[in-house]
Amino acid sequence: MFESLSDRLESVFKRFKGQGRLTEENIQEGLREVRLALLEADVNFKVVKQFVDRVREKALGQDVQGSLTPGQQVVKVVHDELVELLGGKTSAFDVKGSKPLTVMMVGLQGSGKTTSAGKLALYLRREHKMKPFLVPADVYRPAAIDQLTKLGAQIDVPVYPSSTDMNPVDICRDALQVAKDKGYDLVLFDTAGRLHIDERLMEELANIKAAVSPREILFVADAMTGQDAVNVAQSFDAKLEISGVVLTKMDGDARGGAALSIKSVTGKSVKFVGMGEKLSEMEVFHPDRIASRILGMGDVLTLIEKAQGEFSEDEAQELGKKFQKASFDFEDFRTQMRRLKKLGSLEGLLKLIPGMGKLTKQLGEMSVHEKEMKRVEAIISSMTMEERRKPEVLNVSRRRRIAAGSGTSLEQVNQLVKNFDQMRKMMQQVMGGKAPKGGMPQMP
Ligand code: GDP
Repeated sequence: MFESLSDRLESVFKRFKGQGRLTEENIQEGLREVRLALLEADVNFKVVKQFVDRVREKALGQDVQGSLTPGQQVVKVVHDELVELLGGKTSAFDVKGSKPLTVMMVGLQGSGKTTSAGKLALYLRREHKMKPFLVPADVYRPAAIDQLTKLGAQIDVPVYPSSTDMNPVDICRDALQVAKDKGYDLVLFDTAGRLHIDERLMEELANIKAAVSPREILFVADAMTGQDAVNVAQSFDAKLEISGVVLTKMDGDARGGAALSIKSVTGKSVKFVGMGEKLSEMEVFHPDRIASRILGMGDVLTLIEKAQGEFSEDEAQELGKKFQKASFDFEDFRTQMRRLKKLGSLEGLLKLIPGMGKLTKQLGEMSVHEKEMKRVEAIISSMTMEERRKPEVLNVSRRRRIAAGSGTSLEQVNQLVKNFDQMRKMMQQVMGGKAPKGGMPQMP
């Protein structure tokens, strides 16, 4: 997320770090680069100007305080202002209000409305034990009803049986009644989109709004479209008065313009971000955490939250002990690998760890690819339990058998065993507080 912006800002701050004292001159110079970095990230120019003015004012007006060096102080000012720019407080849903909670998804075609409706259903069911009901209200593209219906089946969420000969306003009104009758406490209306703003469609959306008075109207925007997303959000807001924004495709190489401008320009907060095509890949938008990620400080909290959904406290402790004693074996490794897959991509996870943002690029070259993960899994699965638990028994004839069984080569099996051994040693050193010599060995 926001990689080039991150890189640019990091290099600006690196220069501040070397300086014991900040002068007006070097603040000016640093801010000039911050300004360029933001403009390059496609942030609205008025927003950039205000941002830089505020940072300058605060940075200059500050007394050198506490344990922070002047450079750190500037980073802190920029961080705090970034948080403000991103919307300040976290702004999710009030799930406690009257039931059912009604949510209308609006936005251009292809922005990710349908996917986000599914993600929200899954998220709110998991986090708040809600009983969701999905309502396809796009009758213009037959595939749209089909898409949401399939998606509902995939996550076991009921879907209103819309058909293309029905009127979208009637669909929504009737679906709401069905939800009330059947006791669903979350109704998600997936409305039609167009490639561009379209007056007739806007009229229809306004009619749906009038018919079901949704508590939330979420504008779904593709983060990759930058400033365009902000302009379209303004139009939707003018007509429908949206309650918040879902920014999708933040896993791609969106430069940050949409996320950083949308609140200042529209006054509406980003509530959720889509981080991948999988239905589990959605996160609540936390401005402070995102600001930290942009400044390369990582986002450990999000990582912990993600992992908490998958690991129990006991398991995590158990795993820690195994790392320390280097008794972590192939069986444990396969279990963790399968978990990781559930959490999303390995690369996505690594980006959340401070300092790892950079490393993922190297790792990318070091080929942590899904395909390779599959191969590794195949090799481990071809081992016997004894071999997984005690990798030291893996002699050549066993390795040959494993290669044949997993459709790989002896060389690939050798490589995996070797890398695994290195990784174990590294983990033991890291967990024991010593840094590994000679940098990170290649992960299997
Ligand atoms: P709609 O036309 O607005 O309903 O958009 P869809 O939900 O059909 O999404 C359009 C495309 O974007 C699909 O291929 C989705 O898989 C993809 N998509 C949606 N959200 C995300 C996301 O957060 N990340 C990525 N990488 N793809 C997404």
